[in-house]
Amino acid sequence: MFNVHLLTLAAAALIASPFSGTPPARKLSVVATTPDLAALAREIGGDVVDVKALAKPTEDPHFVDAKPSHIVTLNRADVLIDGGVELEIGWLPPLLESARNDKIAAGAPGRISASQGVRMLEIPTSFDRSRGDVHALGNPHFLVDPQNVRLVVAQMADHFSQVDAADAPLFKANLQKFLTRLDAKLPEWQKQLAPFRGAKIVTYHKDFPYFAERFNLEVIENLEPKPGIAPSPAHLAQVISKMQADKVHVIVVQPFQNRKTAETVARQTDGVVLDISQQPGAIKGTDTYFDLMDYIVRTLATALQGKK
Ligand SMILES: [Zn+2]
Repeated sequence: MFNVHLLTLAAAALIASPFSGTPPARKLSVVATTPDLAALAREIGGDVVDVKALAKPTEDPHFVDAKPSHIVTLNRADVLIDGGVELEIGWLPPLLESARNDKIAAGAPGRISASQGVRMLEIPTSFDRSRGDVHALGNPHFLVDPQNVRLVVAQMADHFSQVDAADAPLFKANLQKFLTRLDAKLPEWQKQLAPFRGAKIVTYHKDFPYFAERFNLEVIENLEPKPGIAPSPAHLAQVISKMQADKVHVIVVQPFQNRKTAETVARQTDGVVLDISQQPGAIKGTDTYFDLMDYIVRTLATALQGKK
């Protein structure tokens, strides 16, 4: 946690500093909470938007380091895109409060909540925040299913057009172009993973259920006992025996997760640790959504082939 008042003071000084000279024709300022949403916004916004992500590609989207510069960015935003379903609850609300920008308030045309309309997986029937679980309203890691991305980019085109009506035809054209490409890529990705239908994997965090459902894989365990709770020796022992019993050898970790823990489990299960990021840009050559999905599919297919 951080001190909101100190952040606000620092940000106020930055916000107050005026532009020097005449500003050039201004692009629509779009802020996304995470790099995956930012990459999609760039596809739809094209040249007429300036897109910034608050979280770094290597940061856990649940636990982003709040900075005064984030308040300034939010203060100047025309559009804010968040994941919703409490993905950013630990860090975004105080930043928004300090940024004081009605254009991006909930319900405004300048606010897009990506999860809207997405069929949530893993909605808990009971929930105890005090135990540290961070998936209170369902699983927020839905963008690795291309079918969910369809809904999210359509929302982006709609809201961008409301905020910047003059460029609406461009947003519509970019949306069409993106969807056409996505429709061509999805069967390609499915074909690459088809030989591994039903294959079992383990992931560090509960961040692959949407991907697993779309591409017919089965996540049998997570190294975290609950989303956001660090692995305990007792839980890891259970995971190891389950992996041994089911002959599961692939463990997926993201850059901000504890790779050493995954390596320990891999040593005892004849397993491999796969470095996969769901955020574009965390791994070289994955700056766009398509490059990222190509990477995830290829990396999993290669590992599953090697461990067949
Ligand atoms: Zn999560």
